Amino acid sequence: VAGRLAVALVHHPVLHRDGSVIAAAITNTDIHDLARSCATYGASRFYVVTPVTAQQQMALRIVHHWVSGAGSRKNADRAHAFSLVEVVDCVGTAAAREHTLAGTPPLCWATSARPRLPGLSFPEAAQALDGGAHVLLLLGTAFGLADEAVGPGTSWLEPILGHGSYNHLSVRAAAAILLDRLRTHSAGSQTPPHD
Ligand code: SAM
Repeated sequence: VAGRLAVALVHHPVLHRDGSVIAAAITNTDIHDLARSCATYGASRFYVVTPVTAQQQMALRIVHHWVSGAGSRKNADRAHAFSLVEVVDCVGTAAAREHTLAGTPPLCWATSARPRLPGLSFPEAAQALDGGAHVLLLLGTAFGLADEAVGPGTSWLEPILGHGSYNHLSVRAAAAILLDRLRTHSAGSQTPPHD
C-alpha cells in the first residue's frame, strides 16, 4: 500500500547568503508551481510555512482566490491544486497537522543541494514511500534550510546531482525532480489524461 506524502515549503528558519538565519518572503510562483507538482505526484497536502503573520495572510488570500474566489471559476484544475495548500507557522505545526490527518506522525525528509549525512538515497526513499511510509518532505527557500528547521528525527535526502559542478536549482525545479524521484517505484500509476 502506498504511503502518504506531504510537502512543506519552509520560509523560516532558512539561511541568508551570509549564513544568518532569516524568514524568506513567500513567492507567489512557488505556491502555484509546488501546488501543481504536489497534485500531479499525489501529495496529500502542501504546507506553506512562515511565522510572519502578514505573509500568512497574503498566502491565505492567494489560496482563497484560487480555491473559492474568481480564480476557481476561471481554472478548476488550479482550484484542485490549491485545495492541497495549508498555511502554517512552522514545520512542527505541519508535522502535527499531518499526525492529526493521517493518525501517524510523519517521517521528515529534508532536502538540500549540499550532501548531508546520514543521507537517504532516492531508491531507499521511494521504496519506503511505496511501502507505506508517511512522509513530510521539507523544501527550503533563500539559501536553504537552516539547521534549526531540521528536527532531531529528520533524515536528509541525497541531493539531486546535475551534470558538472553547477548545482543551483530553484525550489520549483528541485521540487518537481524530487517528487518524480520519490514516485519512481509507483511510476506509471497515473493513467494518461483521456483528452
Ligand atoms: N542551494 C541551496 C540549497 O539547496 O540549500 C539553496 C536553496 S534552493 C534556492 C531552495 C530549495 O530547493 C533547497 O532548500 C532545497 O529544498 C531544494 N533544492 C535545491 N537544489 C537542490 C538539489 N540539488 N537537491 C535537492 N534539493 C534541492
